[in-house]
Order: sequence, then C-alpha cells, then structure tokens
Amino acid sequence: MEKTAVVLIAGRPNVGKSTLLNTIVGSRVAIVSPKPQTTRSRIAGVWTKGETQLVFLDTPGYHKAKSKLGDRMVRTVTESAQSADIALLLCDPEKAPGVPEKTLCERFAAAGLPVIAVLNKTDAVPKANLLPTIAAYSRLHDFAEIVPVSARTGDGVDELLALLAARAPEGEHIFADDAMTDQSQRTLAAEYLREQFLRHLDREVPHGIAVVAERFEERPDGVIEVELNVFCEKASHKGIIIGAHGETLKAAGAAARKNLEDLLGAKVYMQIWVKVKEDWRNNDYLLASFGY
Ligand code: GDP
Ligand code: MG
Repeated sequence: MEKTAVVLIAGRPNVGKSTLLNTIVGSRVAIVSPKPQTTRSRIAGVWTKGETQLVFLDTPGYHKAKSKLGDRMVRTVTESAQSADIALLLCDPEKAPGVPEKTLCERFAAAGLPVIAVLNKTDAVPKANLLPTIAAYSRLHDFAEIVPVSARTGDGVDELLALLAARAPEGEHIFADDAMTDQSQRTLAAEYLREQFLRHLDREVPHGIAVVAERFEERPDGVIEVELNVFCEKASHKGIIIGAHGETLKAAGAAARKNLEDLLGAKVYMQIWVKVKEDWRNNDYLLASFGY
C-alpha cells in the first residue's frame, strides 16, 4: 500500500528551510543565500523510498510584508498549510521562539496540522546550548516532536525522515517515484541566476531583481541554450548588476551556468539581458508575468 505525506517547511527567513529541502532531495531545487527572503514562491521537493513518498513544500520565510511581492510570499505560507499533512517549524537552535514561531504555530493549530519543531544549524552551536531552546519550544506548543538537525551536514536528517515516514497516511503518490521537484528546468535556470545576484550584490539591489527564462532549448548537439531576462527596479541598479567592465554579471552568469550544467549533466550556453521595470514589486501585472 502506497503512503504519501505533504510536509510543509515553514519558519522565519534564513533558518535554512531551502537548504534542508535540497539536502533531503539531494539536488539544488531551491536556491540558498545568506540573505533573508531568498525564496519567493512555493517549491515542492520529492523524497520517495519504497512505498513512501514525502512531498516537501519549501515556503518563503514568514515576515512582515513591505510590498505586494511580500504579501504574496506571506500568503503562500498560509495557503500551503491547507494542503499539508504535517508541518515542520524550522528554528534557530540558540534562540527562544518569538512572534513568527508563535504566529505560525497558531495558524497550524487552527488548520489542525501536527507540527514538528526542527532546530537547524546544530553544526554551528555547542550541544549544551540546545537544551534551553528545546525547553522553551516545549512550552510554546504541543509539538509532535522536537528534532535537532543540521541541514548543511545532514546530521539528524535521516531520523527526521524516519519520523515523517512513520506518520505518512495511506494514499497514492503525487509525483513519479523518480521525480525530484515540481520546478521546471527553465525555472531553475532563472532561479540559479537570481541566487548568484543575491550572493554577489548587496542591500536592496538583489531583492529588486526578477529573472525570467525567455528561451530554453536543447540543440541537436546536446548543448542547452538559455536566454534569461534580468529585471531590476531602477536604471542605477542596472549599472550595479552589470558591474565595472561587466564583471559582476560575468561572475554571476558563470556560477549560475556551472550549477545548471551540474544539474542537467549537459553543456549550457547562457545569454543574459538586463532590463529596467520601475517598481515591479508593486505591480500586479508584472508580478504575474514574472511567475509570482
Ligand atoms: P531559508 O531562508 O530559511 O530558506 O534559508 P536558506 O536555506 O536560504 O539558508 C540561509 C543561510 O543559512 C545560508 O547561508 C545557508 O548556507 C545557512 N544554513 C542553512 N542550513 C544550515 C546549517 O545546517 N548549518 C549552518 N551552519 N548553516 C546553514
Ligand atoms: Mg528559502
């Protein structure tokens, strides 16, 4: 009998939700950066073993929205809760729960969702520091479990998967057994480039960038040709994105191309155009056309 569970991954920005998803799936299906609000939409990552399939939904970090894009990101978390069987609340291993954790627990309780608290980044802290955090979390909510993991090293992740598999209800698998994600290769190409801008650029500039794959084609010789449009909010940002002598764009493009080649196992030829769309983050039409 097949068993399937939809597992929502939630938590404040930067706690390692997307890193955990990638570790579980074993591939880069969600982009990761040291900056908050890297993830903008809901991404499914699939883990299948024998009869059991776990479908993980990575969501944008739960934060106070300051733009229409931010509103959509926060709504994504609440909407994804409707379709989940269980939620993982990812948290900082050394900090007591705050308003985002409290709010998320209330939403999950209202949706009747069991919640596992996952203390992530345990590789970065002494074990003794976990105990007060675990105590504080057990006072916050009646969690199904409280589990320490390191998404980066994979420590504790197998234990977490075993707990989830044991709770998976009977039901047909949602994805093919060899599927990794619901993200198309085209979307991943655009996301890989956006990831590099988050890593190469500072302050507001990367948060005002959207990347759209205009063309994604396999040539007869097997080379993948990708054409990407980069949209930024201001003419002054365009110069920063390109950089002196085009160096920033060149470095970001080269790293994104390398990651895409690793994912696809093929050579990639990438063309990138930078364009200005004033205040697109507050424009419903542009948000929809960029896929948000
Ligand atoms: P998200 O915003 O919750 O999706 O967080 P990300 O997955 O984008 O990660 C945010 C930052 O935390 C990145 O710099 C990650 O490399 C880092 N990070 C994630 N998981 C771990 C972990 O287990 N240990 C350590 N030391 N860093 C981590
Ligand atoms: Mg993320």
